[in-house]
Amino acid sequence: MQFDHYLDNARVAPNTGARIEVVDPSTGEPFATIARGDATDVQRAVSAAQRAMGNTLDGAWAKLSPVERSNLLFACAAAVSQYADELAQLEARDTGKALNTARTDAAVLARYLQYYAGCVDKLHGDTLPYPAGFTVLTVREPIGVTGHIIPWNYPMQIYGRSVGASLAAGNACVVKPAEDASLSILRLAEIAAEGGFPAGAINVVTGLGGEAGAALLSANRGIRHISFTGSTVTGALVGHAAAERHFPAVLELGGKSPQLLFDDADLDQALPVIVNAIVQNAGQTCSAGSRLLVQRTVYERVLDRLARQFALLRSGPPSMNLEMGPLVNAKQQARVRAMVERAQADGIRVAARGTIAAGASGAGYYQEAVLFRDVPPDSELAQEEVFGPVLAAMPFDDEDAAVALANGTQYGLVAGVWTRDGARALRLARKLQAGQVFINNYGAGGVELPFGGVKASGHGREKGFEALLGFTALKTIAIKHD
Ligand code: NAD
Repeated sequence: MQFDHYLDNARVAPNTGARIEVVDPSTGEPFATIARGDATDVQRAVSAAQRAMGNTLDGAWAKLSPVERSNLLFACAAAVSQYADELAQLEARDTGKALNTARTDAAVLARYLQYYAGCVDKLHGDTLPYPAGFTVLTVREPIGVTGHIIPWNYPMQIYGRSVGASLAAGNACVVKPAEDASLSILRLAEIAAEGGFPAGAINVVTGLGGEAGAALLSANRGIRHISFTGSTVTGALVGHAAAERHFPAVLELGGKSPQLLFDDADLDQALPVIVNAIVQNAGQTCSAGSRLLVQRTVYERVLDRLARQFALLRSGPPSMNLEMGPLVNAKQQARVRAMVERAQADGIRVAARGTIAAGASGAGYYQEAVLFRDVPPDSELAQEEVFGPVLAAMPFDDEDAAVALANGTQYGLVAGVWTRDGARALRLARKLQAGQVFINNYGAGGVELPFGGVKASGHGREKGFEALLGFTALKTIAIKHD
């Protein structure tokens, strides 16, 4: 199978003819190629998007009325539901994720499109108080052409929340999917075109981060806003480029998110959620609950119960629908393995390990779940994102110590608190440095709930109405009539 870029509602071969192999992570076997885009391909995508906007919002896409735009997004959501199985199969093969997880991703994508479709005709400005003789109003206009750099862990969901919101606000999009996960995104652009999106509204350029991704950020390319999800290191490059070119950037970066488990918590409710929060998508989730802070009075009991649950966790190919699939590529597998080995070499104890299913290919990029205990707060395992199914557990004595541990990394994406004490829950919710705090649950991921980080986890918000506002340019119009 050979996949081209998707620009101006058509498949377009790469300018140079260069291609990138697409490997099935469950077998290590190549099964397709994608176009290896360069600056010329990116420019072509941006020009198509600019035409769709027009010079004065008179392009084929920009001149649609809000209701027409909303209807196209609703139709696209329905088409995603119709093609959900095909999209899930494509995604599972491309990324290795369990088929059921990929199906959930398709359903969440449809929900994002529906949500933002429903927002389009509720997006409006204001009239503002000002001295007599004036009427002052604000209008929310599209920003123009927006760039979307998407990672490989949840391509469909992240496409939904960033491209969905940008289209709803009336912008045209240029999307650069991750080189390890481009197939579903290419298909989505085609589905949108089949559903009536005008040429140039959605353009997908595939390729390497350092080539097609970097080209999107280059000077004078015509991008007016960038939305990036990925590593903290690349996020800094993107933020730097955005600052130099004077366009806004939403950066959704990494995390080392803590769960704080107090001795009055309902363990039957908490423990399965805590396990799922680290093994979901084989730990390749920015908001994974990768640190578990447990009050010392229940530490041994909790570790004992968790160890038994970890021992039951299995990794296998997507079709087996086990708790985990393989990691996305050989580089991620090597990275996770190296971090596990370094932790062990430093004397950090493994409390339990999962298994790799007998049916899994030895050439696949599998990594069993690992539970580490008594992890020193200053160790690599407690400070750095592993992006694999590796949980770092550590004890604390009181609330202040728990907060200090929780806030003691460079990250601040999400946090969970498990307690039956309502006042403590609220106190901690205010003290934790995070963009989302979950009390007696973890990862409430509704599309309506604004999401994003503080500190090295990034800035700006995606999801919810908040994100939609970020994709608009607010213009104030002051009229003197007396
Ligand atoms: P990455 O941040 O390098 O890649 C994410 C996206 O950015 C991809 O589309 C990539 O092509 C693009 N990109 C890379 N370099 C670029 C550049 N110079 N200019 C513009 N775009 C560029 O992530 P990765 O290398 O795939 O993974 C490395 C680590 O990143 C992982 O181990 C994990 O810790 C983290 N990660 C986090 C998330 C998240 O959701 N927070 C997602 C993916 C990876």
